[in-house]
Amino acid sequence: MSNNKTDFDTIVIGSGFAGLALIHYLREAGLSVQVFDKAADIGGTWTWNRYPGAMTDSEGYYYCLTFSKELLQKWTWSQRYPAWEETHRYMHFVADECDMWPHIQLNTEVTSAEYQKDKAIWLITTADGKQYTCKYFISGMGMISDPVIPNIKGIDSFKGPLFHSARWPEGLDYKGKRVGIIGAGATTVQMLPVMAKEAGSVTVFQRTPNFILPAMQKPMTPEWEKEIKDNYDDVIAKCRNHVFGMAFDSPVGRNAVDTPAEEVQKIFEENWNGSFRWVFETFDDLLADAKANDMASEFIINKMKERIDDPELEKILCPELGEYPLFAKRPPLDHGYLEAYSRDNVNLVDIRNKEPIVEITETGVRTTDNEFEFDIIILATGFRAYTGSLEALTIRGESGQTLSEKWDKTSKSIMGVCVADFPNMFTITGPQAPFANLPTSIEQNAMWVSDCIKTMENQGHNLCTPKQQAEDEWSAHVADVHVQTLMNQGDSVNSWMMGANIENHEPRVLIYFGGADVYYDKLRESVDAGFPELEFSTLAG
Ligand code: NAP
Repeated sequence: MSNNKTDFDTIVIGSGFAGLALIHYLREAGLSVQVFDKAADIGGTWTWNRYPGAMTDSEGYYYCLTFSKELLQKWTWSQRYPAWEETHRYMHFVADECDMWPHIQLNTEVTSAEYQKDKAIWLITTADGKQYTCKYFISGMGMISDPVIPNIKGIDSFKGPLFHSARWPEGLDYKGKRVGIIGAGATTVQMLPVMAKEAGSVTVFQRTPNFILPAMQKPMTPEWEKEIKDNYDDVIAKCRNHVFGMAFDSPVGRNAVDTPAEEVQKIFEENWNGSFRWVFETFDDLLADAKANDMASEFIINKMKERIDDPELEKILCPELGEYPLFAKRPPLDHGYLEAYSRDNVNLVDIRNKEPIVEITETGVRTTDNEFEFDIIILATGFRAYTGSLEALTIRGESGQTLSEKWDKTSKSIMGVCVADFPNMFTITGPQAPFANLPTSIEQNAMWVSDCIKTMENQGHNLCTPKQQAEDEWSAHVADVHVQTLMNQGDSVNSWMMGANIENHEPRVLIYFGGADVYYDKLRESVDAGFPELEFSTLAG
């Protein structure tokens, strides 16, 4: 082992679910952990995304950390999908109960992380100029955390508040104000119905229509809570074995294409109970077979139309059948989004087919046909997913190249947790990991990382080098799986899942589409086989 002394064994960036999970698993492995977060509070996504209506789209009882059975019993969710404040409170509860605060330093932005080849350690620099060393550097920065600011002419000229939805100004008063929202993805779908109740007016500028699934919120009853808490092992096992990391009862052992059409409709109708459940608990082929996907898409479109009372709005809000497959873009869950457009103070502008935005002016937004005056403009324009936060800082590997340089054309990794040329570095839900219920994936990744470090150190090694061949093989596998799925049309609809929402950026496969369950198995196989993707060695200090 190296005699080189470092300030910490591990330095982690981010105090969201990943940071908290890492504190638990790394501490359990006997390692010292220091978490830095630029935010003023813990929570990651749930501290940054404070827009009105922000809430989880996973049901709360499995959108949580599962390492402590005691905590699972102790915490009570108030409703099916907790609002951001509740999830945020839950994260404080975990940090308090598990005495995690001594490991966390807030208001500390990491600006660079540089691998020191001669010592096999990482040098971390923060915005205040301080430097820290560690043996292992880990990103827990989150896969949807780097906001995209659109390149719209005049964006800096607006005189009122203009901000990204993930940077909500504290205390912003929008009561009675004229609000413009650019973008109509999952964020806007949550935000609009809440804001419309108090704002003077809300105008949404939509480009691509979405398949909107109803959330069907409901309170947590004592009976439901008891059922969950009596069966938490089963809930955890379901998540671990589910294609989307969720506690769903699937696969169901039935395909839509093999079922008579009438029966398909009946099953669709009977299971229209909200959440993504509908997609996974009706048939097993909705995301795998084009015909089945069309059946599901058509059903959703018809359900959307039932809720829209204006034919013009219907045309703009509903995707056309065959326009793109269900889930090639992540479908939003809604809480009264479609109904909000019936209000007199809500306006929808079709900037794809009717009147593109020309510029943002001092007073509002100018399209090809109209001039809209606003007091506030919100950019709900999404995120540079998976790689954005990592590329935003200088992370320099063994050869001297930065991660951002390495990922210029493709964003390769080993299972989303390691990157060749970046020894002793790990990423939680990095590129080419699956997109799934995030706490499930985060915990699976955190366990893999702590097992890896423990195994290596127990063998007397201090250097873990990701193999280029393993990275090439994983990336080839990710690409192979992707072309076989219906999701390979994501770049045609600007899906962030392909990085296709980023201007002047080559689309790439950012997600492992082979299923979270398969992926978790692969992580376990890697542990059992002694981490064949990595080379463990010893650098004498
Ligand atoms: P998003 O789904 O990527 O939506 C961004 C929206 O902005 C899209 O309508 C997009 O149009 C539009 N847009 C982007 N650039 C634009 C431009 N230059 N001009 C006009 N419109 C532009 O982003 P999001 O709504 O923030 O959601 C991102 C992801 O975050 C979700 O898919 C979800 O996974 C996660 N999220 C989760 C929750 C939750 O679970 N509770 C809530 C919110 C978000 P196009 O579609 O045409 O590109």
